[in-house]
Amino acid sequence: MAEFQFIEQIKQKTYNQSSLIKGIGDDAAVFRERSQDIVITKDTFVEGVHFSKKTMTLYHVGYRVLAANISDLAAMGATPLFYLVSIVIPNQYEQNELRQIYEGMKALGSSYNIDLIGGDTVSGQELVITVTAIGKVVDNKVRYRHTSQVGDIVFVTGMLGDSRAGLHLLMNELKADDRDYFIKRHQMPEPRVKFALSMCELNRVTLNDVSDGLVSEVSEIAEASNKSIVLVDKKIPTYESFSQFAPDQQFDWKYFGGEDFELVGTVAKDDWTKVKQCANDSQITVNEIGYVIEKTDYPVYIKEENNVKQITKRGYIHLK
Ligand code: ADP
Ligand code: MG
Repeated sequence: MAEFQFIEQIKQKTYNQSSLIKGIGDDAAVFRERSQDIVITKDTFVEGVHFSKKTMTLYHVGYRVLAANISDLAAMGATPLFYLVSIVIPNQYEQNELRQIYEGMKALGSSYNIDLIGGDTVSGQELVITVTAIGKVVDNKVRYRHTSQVGDIVFVTGMLGDSRAGLHLLMNELKADDRDYFIKRHQMPEPRVKFALSMCELNRVTLNDVSDGLVSEVSEIAEASNKSIVLVDKKIPTYESFSQFAPDQQFDWKYFGGEDFELVGTVAKDDWTKVKQCANDSQITVNEIGYVIEKTDYPVYIKEENNVKQITKRGYIHLK
């Protein structure tokens, strides 16, 4: 199929964003925003590395790669506006398969009223999908990683480890309690945009999204803020039936699983009630999971009963 025909098929018939001046169809897209900070992010998915057709349909692949980008915008406190898609297509792919990728992206995109405004199409050895997403932030309320302070509460939205549990069930073709729940959490994650935006009244919130795993994300906050963070093991939120998995799997998945696309952050104690209210208004859960301390030898520690252990991004634990 000619590239032109393909682009005609995936192109939106109408656009949602009023700031858009030119979408798909010229050498580049054009939009006009006044006095807003513009936030841009990009994620790349490679077949065989970031996804396999064994555990995901192409619809889910599209859904997920866009979700990863929207989640990054949420973690910056940004309202998503637009996205662009670069795709490397191997010969054996049929046009209806490629359309499914875009169907998945459009399904998620339309729930945020965001528009596909451009991209690039080339052929190559393996399927590669790169999405660039653009958002805006008003009133200088960008949520950076470097703003944590000693005494802050560390919080996380939703449940952790679900996505990794879902992947495990798919890869090993296992039955389990709430199998559909875990698989859906893996294939169709929900970026926490509404919650992030609902905190716009708060002056200082540090945010990061859980793409690589809780310990990794919390380390990034601690390092950027020049602090250390203690996570309280029994407070890490997991789904009721998560307890059906082996203890070492539970530990591994909740701390290192990643791809839950929940938001982890820190906030002053005085603002914690407001954060809980924002979660309530956004119909999600939020839990206090730890606290920020002065910088010590390691960025992240885990408190189990009266034992405090350091934990590295790779997961090795040493007694302190
Ligand atoms: P150019 O050669 O000027 O870069 P192209 O012929 O590559 O333009 O693309 C024509 C239009 O289609 C542009 O608006 C471009 O952004 C858009 N486009 C191309 N490939 C894709 C794609 N895979 N997804 C979305 N839009 C695309
Ligand atoms: Mg051109």
